[in-house]
Amino acid sequence: MDRDGTIGDGTIAIVGAGIAGAAAARRLSDAGRRVVVIDKGRGPGGRMATRRGPDSLRFDHGAQYFTARDPRFAALVEDWTARGVAGAWGGEGRHVGVPGMSAPVGDLLDGIDLRCGRAVGRLAREGRGWRLAEADGTALAKDTAFSHVLLTCPSPQSLALLASADQHLPGVAEVRYAPCWTLMLAHDGPPLPDSSVREDRDPEAVLAWIARNDSKPGREDGSTLVAHASPSWSRANLECTADDVAERLVTALRDRIPVGEIRHRAAHRWRYAAVERAVGEPCLFAPETGLGFAGDGCLGPRVEFACLSGLALAERVLAEGA
Ligand SMILES: Cc1cc2nc3c(=O)[nH]c(=O)nc-3n(C[C@H](O)[C@H](O)[C@H](O)COP(=O)(O)OP(=O)(O)OC[C@H]3O[C@@H](n4cnc5c(N)ncnc54)[C@H](O)[C@@H]3O)c2cc1C
Repeated sequence: MDRDGTIGDGTIAIVGAGIAGAAAARRLSDAGRRVVVIDKGRGPGGRMATRRGPDSLRFDHGAQYFTARDPRFAALVEDWTARGVAGAWGGEGRHVGVPGMSAPVGDLLDGIDLRCGRAVGRLAREGRGWRLAEADGTALAKDTAFSHVLLTCPSPQSLALLASADQHLPGVAEVRYAPCWTLMLAHDGPPLPDSSVREDRDPEAVLAWIARNDSKPGREDGSTLVAHASPSWSRANLECTADDVAERLVTALRDRIPVGEIRHRAAHRWRYAAVERAVGEPCLFAPETGLGFAGDGCLGPRVEFACLSGLALAERVLAEGA
């Protein structure tokens, strides 16, 4: 739908195929808008991620679970659960994607024009629309001038895109994230008991979270663990190599639980893991330019909040055309 025939061709670009971008895309597409979602990753999901290891091993190395306190998100989770896209895990209102954490994101994007493996590097104004390009200037979706560009990548990446077009959305620069080093481990030791999870809220602890990955529904990998280093340890060791970090996190893990012979280990660095300071608004939107920002940077560090933020941004765009 192109309201006045002058703003691009009415197609909306969404940068980022995490839960926020996917939720926005679903809402806009269901309302009859044309949407293109672009993500630099190999597939959708963002921080709701599953990493493959050797021998069909799989690890949810980003978000561990999601809660569903808001009725709008709870309705989505209920639907995903009924269709086997999500399942309950470990009590306390925890849900996970099935068979991996990214499954609900993939479900939201079903039938939507999704282009993965393409990093947006620049935005360029053309008339009252927008063109997108990779960092080296290669055009993205080169036949399309977009009426809107909705940024759902973490704020440093969104800020760089705004700066490329000399644009500004007040609030984006204020968002702060804690990093997180993640250990993925497959071993032949005794599995953790069914409780699945060990949490440590001591800020000085090396490990903040240990979970038995194979206790989640749909995972049958056998004694796979995911452990997250604490924000302070992750920050202090941010520029270490993944091999060095993996070795040190295994040592820290052995202090907490029995670890058997190791079949596979790897570490992954999340530079922008958990939001420490959010915008405090459901989303940011500038109707005069058609630029918007959504994601956990708006409401806080949860899958649920990121999803609600994406939905809020879609509503802002739809309200503009009402
Ligand atoms: C280690 C870890 C543990 C967590 N644990 C939990 C938990 O247990 N429970 C919970 O609720 N939340 C948890 N979270 C937080 C949760 O994962 C996030 O809040 C949520 O997934 C954010 O979704 P999003 O769509 O806002 O962003 P993202 O999922 O980060 O999506 C942004 C997307 O933008 C893409 N992108 C970035 N730059 C570009 C570019 N230039 N061009 C194209 N694409 C780009 C990225 O590839 C990414 O796919 C955790 C996060 C981490 C990292």
